[in-house]
Amino acid sequence: QNELLVYYQPVHDLKTCRLIGVEALVRWEHPQRGLVSPAQFIPIAERTGLIAQIDAWVMRQACEQMCQWLRAGVALSFVAVNVSSRLFAGRELYQQVAQVLRETGLDPACLELEVTESAVMEDPEVALEQMHRLRELGVQLAIDDFGTGYSSLLRLKRLPVQKLKIDQGFVAGLPCDEDDAAIVRVIIALAQSMGMQVQAEGIEQVEQAAFLLEHGGHLGQGYWFGRPVPAMLLDWARTPVISPR
Ligand code: C2E
Ligand code: MG
Ligand code: MG
Repeated sequence: QNELLVYYQPVHDLKTCRLIGVEALVRWEHPQRGLVSPAQFIPIAERTGLIAQIDAWVMRQACEQMCQWLRAGVALSFVAVNVSSRLFAGRELYQQVAQVLRETGLDPACLELEVTESAVMEDPEVALEQMHRLRELGVQLAIDDFGTGYSSLLRLKRLPVQKLKIDQGFVAGLPCDEDDAAIVRVIIALAQSMGMQVQAEGIEQVEQAAFLLEHGGHLGQGYWFGRPVPAMLLDWARTPVISPR
């Protein structure tokens, strides 16, 4: 019923503070309930099977929007979309991604697919095969909510993944909580040693950004940089200053 919307949250380079990418996040604008969060309806869509159509729609919107931005001369490196574990396990995902890329003409290197760590570790062998096929299309792969899903490090090493996204649960405790600080440092070191980028989510305070920058974190997103907003409200010029702690 045309009630879904795609919001975009900026992702910033921690060193230059420049906006370099966006994550597409779906919203449901319900006529009575107002804006419904995906945390509420995605699990239901997963149970009922509607998730495949939702994710396909979001991916298409995001790719079309990215093409528009690039045509308009916006210096943006990637648009990231979330892929449900339901889709990730199936065969259709590859077809779907290939079709959207073909029809929109988007450079595959500009599309990043986010899969949660738990979806990957649910069936690591299937995940490995799926990821290799997707990589053949030229898209980027990221592991979302990293640190929450019991990764086997041996398996992680073999995955053709370009980015780890540190779960916001760990970022929330920075810089004071010693456990969170230790975990975040370890994830950054792990990503670096495996040649992956590392992106922290849920950065709400400048102290968190400063900690991440200090410890070699590469990318960040969170309310401190900018909330998810409709495409037309993104502020391309915003380069907030991360003052040292
Ligand atoms: P996610 O992919 O880990 O996305 C990050 C979530 O954290 C988003 O919630 C975002 O709005 C929120 N967030 C960003 N910065 C901050 C911050 O500084 N503080 C706090 N407290 N939260 C922050 P959102 O948009 O409600 O999405 C929730 C989850 O729903 C996503 O988690 C993702 O797993 C799922 N999701 C969203 N859109 C889609 C979609 O199109 N397809 C699928 N399959 N899942 C989606
Ligand atoms: Mg995500
Ligand atoms: Mg996440």
